[in-house]
Amino acid sequence: MTDRGLLIVLSGPSGVGKGTVRKAVFDDPTTSFEYSISMTTRKPREGEVDGVDYYFRTKEQFEQAIQDGKMLEYAQYVGNYYGTPLDYVEEILADGKDVFLEIEVQGALQVRQAMPDGIFIFLTPPDLSELKNRIIGRGTESMDVVEERMTEARKEIEMMNSYDYAVVNDIVDNAVQKIKGIVQTEHLKIERVVHKYEKMLEELE
Ligand code: 5GP
Repeated sequence: MTDRGLLIVLSGPSGVGKGTVRKAVFDDPTTSFEYSISMTTRKPREGEVDGVDYYFRTKEQFEQAIQDGKMLEYAQYVGNYYGTPLDYVEEILADGKDVFLEIEVQGALQVRQAMPDGIFIFLTPPDLSELKNRIIGRGTESMDVVEERMTEARKEIEMMNSYDYAVVNDIVDNAVQKIKGIVQTEHLKIERVVHKYEKMLEELE
């Protein structure tokens, strides 16, 4: 029987750079995790491709998927649904591979409930003024959206206690290395490896 893979959840406040860090994780050729592509009702941005960046769906399609129990988690964020399709995550874990989710905090809390064995990593901003710069600096959102994102960010920072690890997003490459280090370490935990040694002993006996 193949060991189940690890579920890795990267979350953190709005504008902290989760998307940038996630892209850098997957641009690294030594990364062996599978990325779980999210479903959203938000419109594609310039250059975004359906089935690569997101599964872009209508509100009706998304709500149907929720009703059919097809979502591991979902949340409404700045007027749109975002969520993780369950089947893919299950398939990858059952196949013994690690699966990586990059999601906002309400969704991460739902995953914590559904899959408490996961590894929950909170990406933190170097400081709050920088967080604000990043939210505004994106330049594609109206002031209303920026303010809404700030309010969310304050709440989200209070949520750090629900996570296993905090990674500061000072330099993207540093954050990537830390995330990969966490996953490596998690694979070495006694509780994850001891059964292999027990099985070896059994076979010898
Ligand atoms: P954006 O619209 O900038 O691509 O993403 C907005 C927010 O939605 C980001 O904080 C991103 O992490 C989050 N997000 C992306 N996919 C998912 C998902 O599947 N579930 C949840 N809960 N949040 C997601």
